Amino acid sequence: MDMDKMKIKNRIEDISSIINEHNYNYYVLAKPVISDYDFDMLLEELEKLESENPEFVLPDSPTQRVGGDITKEFQQVKHTYPMLSLSNTYSEDEIRDFENRIKKILEQEVEYECELKYDGASISLTYIKGMLLRAVTRGDGIQGDDVTTNIKTIKSIPLKLKGDFPDEFEIRGEIFMHKDGFARLNAERIENGEDPFANPRNSTAGSIKMQDSSEVAKRPLDCFLYFLLGKNLPFDNHYDNLMKAKEWGFNIPKHTLAKCSTIEEVMDFIHDWEKGREKLSFEIDGVVIKVNNYAQQEELGSTAKSPRWAIAYKYKAERVATRLNKITYQVGRTGAITPVANLEPVQLAGTTVKRASLHNADIIEALDVRERDIVYVEKGGEIIPKIVGVDLTKRDKGIVKTEYIKHCPECGTPLKRKEGEANHYCPNDAGCPPQIKGRIEHFISRNAMDIDSLGEGKIEMLYVNGLVKNPSDLYFLEYDQLIGLEKLIEATEDKKEKKLSFKEKTVTNILNGIEASKKIPFDRVLFALGIRYVGQTVAKKLAAHYRNINALKQVTFEELILVDEIGEKIAESAMNYFNDPRNLEIIERLKEKGVQFELKEEVKIKSDKLKGKIIVASGKLENFSREEIKQVILEHGGKPVSSVSKKTDYLLAGENIGPNKLAKAKELGIKIIDEGAFLEMIK
Ligand code: AMP
Ligand code: ZN
Repeated sequence: MDMDKMKIKNRIEDISSIINEHNYNYYVLAKPVISDYDFDMLLEELEKLESENPEFVLPDSPTQRVGGDITKEFQQVKHTYPMLSLSNTYSEDEIRDFENRIKKILEQEVEYECELKYDGASISLTYIKGMLLRAVTRGDGIQGDDVTTNIKTIKSIPLKLKGDFPDEFEIRGEIFMHKDGFARLNAERIENGEDPFANPRNSTAGSIKMQDSSEVAKRPLDCFLYFLLGKNLPFDNHYDNLMKAKEWGFNIPKHTLAKCSTIEEVMDFIHDWEKGREKLSFEIDGVVIKVNNYAQQEELGSTAKSPRWAIAYKYKAERVATRLNKITYQVGRTGAITPVANLEPVQLAGTTVKRASLHNADIIEALDVRERDIVYVEKGGEIIPKIVGVDLTKRDKGIVKTEYIKHCPECGTPLKRKEGEANHYCPNDAGCPPQIKGRIEHFISRNAMDIDSLGEGKIEMLYVNGLVKNPSDLYFLEYDQLIGLEKLIEATEDKKEKKLSFKEKTVTNILNGIEASKKIPFDRVLFALGIRYVGQTVAKKLAAHYRNINALKQVTFEELILVDEIGEKIAESAMNYFNDPRNLEIIERLKEKGVQFELKEEVKIKSDKLKGKIIVASGKLENFSREEIKQVILEHGGKPVSSVSKKTDYLLAGENIGPNKLAKAKELGIKIIDEGAFLEMIK
């Protein structure tokens, strides 16, 4: 190897290990020692060196965490040691029984190690010579799915270990989401018209089985480790090995572990965390008690389902009784109706609860909840409290059965329910105020058009004054219409009454904000339109694939589902959207005012062989996809367009080209070339 190559190889190795160290400081120790900027610069340098010298990419390179977008079927892998479940109990007496059973078998003193029971999805990681080899889900306990590429995106899982570790071992743990990350994820999903996840556990399990690991990388996943398995572990007991594993780089929450020499200490641990759990950044559903010593563990052995040396004590979800004052119904941006229980305020798990979701008509029916009932409210793994039952002994005679509303509470339109969907919805999307306002609010939101000079209150004001009915109206607003508008915002339970009035500064800000949004790129505009199920990621994919709105408007369902990641649900929703003339009008009006409906091409010019030539490519080409051919034409100075006109210079005709295009080109005397001729032209 020559000197230069050697230097590059060394540099790649150095930065890789520096970045891995920073990742560890940041994600495991939560103590960054470098600025985000410097970190990004290092990562950028590494990416560049690696792409130029792929032969030197290390298997534990931090760039491997980003994830590729390959679609995969998960490979089934048999566990070296079966992944058992834990016996569990809600009763302290049974914890004492557990201890008695153990003492009877062992006839020795026993030391316990207590841990929190993290609420997520379990994973088994295999390390060989300090490198992460494989990550497998529990599956049926005997074999699970190989989800290594997805797991590599979780930054707190080391790809390469530090220090003095055994040559080969397995370590198991729980993948989970912190409460705030989970809340953010759900807020985003609701924003996109997707159903929110019921709890962090569901969302975690779903995340690690996603097909596209670059999507997994965006999920806020973390991992705590709680078991080591292998022949050459450094210590003869669980606790010391866990502490050692922490030194190797694993995320082990040291402060929530304890060694206990008596069952009374175990009880204290249980009680302390029952109170302390609210303050944790993550959800737990109990405590796991393990016999610490391996020799004792072995002697105790396992049943077919679970080890005899461990038990989980589960916390009961906290539950309180309170009066259900009223059932109200909310209408979302997509028209979905959510019944809400308005409760007599009550303390639950450290917060005051005034409202709980009643989900849908079926659940109200199943629980037979009625207004003025005394209901049980619970806060378990879920973040939003839910109603789990009714105290029938307290039901007054006069209380009548709940009749689910038949009409929209906001606009009076008869509600509908789609087959297979749990929620009713208001079909009056064009005239139902919360739907109209919701769409505009979505349009201006931060990840969409980011018009932060407008907000809920101002939208309301514009709406009641008849100035905006859809997002495109914003761009037609004029100074004189806005100045001096006034409105009293009614007080609600959460907010005080407020008088809103548009003065000069407000108006200029609003207009400037709207003007500035014309620079927002096409993919975000597409997201802003609020097509159901077209979230940020899908919008990006669609924008990258079709490049502009005209191409997208013309596509068929069959074409759409061929696009990476676009399923039938999304395709159907997009088709509905583009088939509605009202939406097309909104798009036209936005376009007219200069909103971006085309991706700006970033083209590296390679030659000017096609300079000034207007080229229509049509039909299936052998060497290029639809997108690639446009790109290539641009790279050589040409201009790709989609329909044949007098100005067209060439029609590049692929296989199965539409007869109309061909006929038109012939009629206009436009030169028709095949792929071979095209390649010749740019050679
Ligand atoms: P269960 O799913 O109720 O049978 O409980 C067993 C599961 O609890 C295990 O498969 C682990 O995924 C999970 N678990 C969470 N925290 C721990 C922990 N600290 N030690 C062992 N298992 C845990
Ligand atoms: Zn309505």
